[in-house]
Amino acid sequence: MRLSRFFMPTLKETPSEAQIVSHRLMLRAGMIRQASAGIYSWLPLGYRVLKKIERIVREEQDIAGSQEVLMPTIQSADLWRESERYDAYGPEMLRITDRHDREMLYGPTAEEQITDIFRGSIRSYKDLPQMLYQIHWKFRDEIRPRFGIMRGREFLMKDGYSFDLTKDDARRSYNRMFVSYLRTFQRMGLKAVPMQAESGPIGGDMSHEFIILADTGETKVQCHKDLLGFDVPDDVDYQGDLQPVVDKWTSLYAATDEKYDEVRAAQIGDALVTARGIEVGHIFYFGTKYSQSMNAVVNGPDGEGVPLEMGSYGIGVSRLVGGIIESSHDENGIIWPESVAPFTVGLINLKSGDDACDTACDDLYSQLRKAGVEVLYDDRALRAGPKFADMDLIGLPWQVVIGPRGLANGIAEVKNRKTGEKEEMPVTGIADRFAG
Ligand code: ATP
Ligand code: MG
Repeated sequence: MRLSRFFMPTLKETPSEAQIVSHRLMLRAGMIRQASAGIYSWLPLGYRVLKKIERIVREEQDIAGSQEVLMPTIQSADLWRESERYDAYGPEMLRITDRHDREMLYGPTAEEQITDIFRGSIRSYKDLPQMLYQIHWKFRDEIRPRFGIMRGREFLMKDGYSFDLTKDDARRSYNRMFVSYLRTFQRMGLKAVPMQAESGPIGGDMSHEFIILADTGETKVQCHKDLLGFDVPDDVDYQGDLQPVVDKWTSLYAATDEKYDEVRAAQIGDALVTARGIEVGHIFYFGTKYSQSMNAVVNGPDGEGVPLEMGSYGIGVSRLVGGIIESSHDENGIIWPESVAPFTVGLINLKSGDDACDTACDDLYSQLRKAGVEVLYDDRALRAGPKFADMDLIGLPWQVVIGPRGLANGIAEVKNRKTGEKEEMPVTGIADRFAG
């Protein structure tokens, strides 16, 4: 992409409405534009990141054996009356009436919708287990939308649902998601710690929020410091027994403020980390809550009707864009991990209009594109200063700088945005350096 043609409305001034760094940087980099409170448009740069995150989530869901579906954003109020959540959900639910006076709503989540699909489709325990997910927009009329897309009203969520015959089977499904979440967040360069969370009406230990530590986080958390250094398994057999992996992570104390345990915290002593965190995912086993109220029953092995054991598994896909920035930036701007970066390489022409520089940059730009490298080429007729500043602000992992002086010797400078390290390289070797 040529920056001269790219729609990237950056801002010079720091927007006054933005209280936290990710919100400021997303606005300054022209990634998003507010439409109304808590509702945003995604501009090209931001949307590229959102799609990268979405892709990682999708790949890891698929690997873990979940199947992608797409359900409507608009749901029927009647479904929610069956589960008795229509009134209980309160003012966070956006309620809509259609032209026939039918009550509808913009889904804040989809347990009812998926249960309805399931109860009409699955009859026998032999069809279990099943796990389905979607990546789709949700609406919650949050009382205080803030921090940009971190707490929006309309936001993109991966929501997944598991269906099993027994509680033991449900635990296996839960464990699959537990491990797949570890891997998902790790691929985005995040250290997300699973923390014991409020488990709702049925109690038990199967509710974890995945939290990244950040001073700007809304949740108060405590955890054993070793959890921040644990390795995430890189080769997982999802058909095998994942309990040992889950046990390893859950054996050390880690809890959100709802689940503080003073005794355990005190035992840990110096190794206790007290911090704030951002919830990027939540996995939750809730048993037969919806299958009972909505009559989602299968024929069990002895012919008896058995209500489905269910769990649900959320990831805040759009929140992650902000979460990654919160954990990866410096005073000059964003520092994208390569896996989610909107482009891999920023090519800076230090002297647009100079024949030699233009030719060398144009050539390299087309070589990089041919090699499949995602490159943003700053070909604008601007001074070097603003070009460097913009490139640092938008945080591409690599900057390739070509100017008249180096070019006289066939040399370009390659800068690593994260470390700041600069390296001189022959221009002719650059495309190979980034290819594959
Ligand atoms: P929170 O406590 O932050 O309100 P929640 O417990 O209501 O979150 P879930 O219902 O578990 O959230 O939703 C799954 C995921 O969706 C959360 O882990 C979070 O990452 C994301 N999420 C929830 N609410 C919002 C929001 N208003 N804006 C952006 N992302 C959100
Ligand atoms: Mg909430």
